[in-house]
Amino acid sequence: MNVDLHCHTNLSDGSLSPKELIALAIEREIDVLAITDHDNIDSYAEISASKEDLTLISGIEFSTTWRNIGVHIVGLNMDLNNADLLEGIRFQSLAREKRGHLIDKKLQQLGIEGSLEGAKRFCCGQQVGRPHFAQYLVEIGAVSNFQQAFKRYLGAGKAGDIKQQWASLGDVISWIRGAGGVAVLAHPTKYKMTRTKLCLLLEDFIELGGEAMEVISGSQTVSETQSMAKLCKQYNLLASRGSDFHAPGQPWAALGMASELPADLTPVWSKWA
Ligand code: MN
Ligand code: MN
Ligand code: MN
Repeated sequence: MNVDLHCHTNLSDGSLSPKELIALAIEREIDVLAITDHDNIDSYAEISASKEDLTLISGIEFSTTWRNIGVHIVGLNMDLNNADLLEGIRFQSLAREKRGHLIDKKLQQLGIEGSLEGAKRFCCGQQVGRPHFAQYLVEIGAVSNFQQAFKRYLGAGKAGDIKQQWASLGDVISWIRGAGGVAVLAHPTKYKMTRTKLCLLLEDFIELGGEAMEVISGSQTVSETQSMAKLCKQYNLLASRGSDFHAPGQPWAALGMASELPADLTPVWSKWA
């Protein structure tokens, strides 16, 4: 079975519209798909998939912090009409707006003018994210490419790395669970934490109600997969798999093309598929 439970549309920082993404998923013969845009569920208002084509599971990728480290939590299979979830999404939307202004201010201190306005031109009326600031920095020639924009201005520890405004890990997990969903720790290898620290994160995550982790995210090495599988078993978590697809041609796994989950884990989708 081909399952992809982490991908983005142009309603966050992906490049395909929700309909284009569904069409690609059907073309790739994906059986179970969740769209997990950053802090919003807008794509679900635009799409439906008939059961014969694929099983569509509701999804979102929430931004939060743990010990001042930016951490992402995917929510799966939620009731998208749940009032507390919708309230949470509004909170995150305001947080994103505030963050945009703070990034603008920080970049201004570094001599870069008009970045929020500039970034907004790249997000097509959607919520502004760091990739849009990156596009603006490239456009004005402050950096020569997208990667450099993150390395110099927007990535971890840089001026644009503002995350204090996000909801807490506990709040995010409770919104997901309150809406009947499963909270999944997204891309655990991406945080560059030591094993000890990642274990502490998992322990807090589980205590707060987290139930699953992405054992497979994008493309990763065999040893990363083994290491994540071991943690998943050690903590008795359900295992998830996602490409974190944003755009055709991206350097990591394409939609539906991430590696298989190790066979001895319990897939999170065994709950619904
Ligand atoms: Mn993204
Ligand atoms: Mn993420
Ligand atoms: Mn993502």
